[in-house]
Amino acid sequence: MKIKYLGTAAAEGIPGLFCQCPVCMTARKRGGRDIRSRTQAMIDETLMIDWPADSFYHMMNNVIHPELIKTLLFTHIHEDHYYPQDLGTRRQGFAHIDGCDPLTIVGSSDILTAPLTQVLSLMPCEGTYHIEVKIVEQNGDPYVTVDGYTVWPIKAVHGTDHPLCYVIEKDGKALMYAHDTSEFLPETWEYLKKNIKHLDFVSLDCTEGRVPMSYKGHMNFERDFAFGEKLKELGIATEETIFCCNHFSHNGKVTYDEGVRIAGERNYLVSYDGMEVEF
Ligand SMILES: [Zn+2]
Ligand SMILES: [Zn+2]
Ligand SMILES: [Zn+2]
Repeated sequence: MKIKYLGTAAAEGIPGLFCQCPVCMTARKRGGRDIRSRTQAMIDETLMIDWPADSFYHMMNNVIHPELIKTLLFTHIHEDHYYPQDLGTRRQGFAHIDGCDPLTIVGSSDILTAPLTQVLSLMPCEGTYHIEVKIVEQNGDPYVTVDGYTVWPIKAVHGTDHPLCYVIEKDGKALMYAHDTSEFLPETWEYLKKNIKHLDFVSLDCTEGRVPMSYKGHMNFERDFAFGEKLKELGIATEETIFCCNHFSHNGKVTYDEGVRIAGERNYLVSYDGMEVEF
């Protein structure tokens, strides 16, 4: 299994469009891995996680073949993850699609809000949708994609009604994608213990970076490390599991290099736009 991080920032991106803080000023000067676009990731070539407004830029910069994308998972409906307006360009006249499988959009009932329902209403004719919607429940039954990924919808702790993290399994490999969330609730740890045998890769929310936590719904480096220890206690993660800190904000007060130093002390990776990890 392979994860490719297309965008690795929280809502404002780094540098924040209008921000002059030291992290943003440094990012403008250095470029490279200090520039972070809004959150999106791709598993292998076919499974997309989240669809922010930066998706166009991600598709171009990474030469992603749209016909290969079978499934789009939404974690939640904050704008750095959810910009379904662009999916309207999939309709006839805006896209010429021959013999393509439908795109299946997976998320909690929260995704059925105006932006997505308006897009779907623009595609009223049977056979021209090329989009199907599958609603999943927090800590509910897994969804199996057309190409055989088992997707477990995990209850996140975040500022929307039914936010989701995901565990994605295929061919004996498993990945957890935990954005945006704080530590899980006890019922969620139980759900994981019951259903997930082993995680090979874990991507954790690091919005708050090196800053002491002020907001419930995200994590920082210290809490990512504690989260990893909890997974090991439960027997779901081991010393072989790869951990990666992701979803950074300039308000977390770390540049890429500083993040690598802090995370490296615990053998955690730090994501950057375009980073690929195969496991
Ligand atoms: Zn976010
Ligand atoms: Zn800033
Ligand atoms: Zn969010």
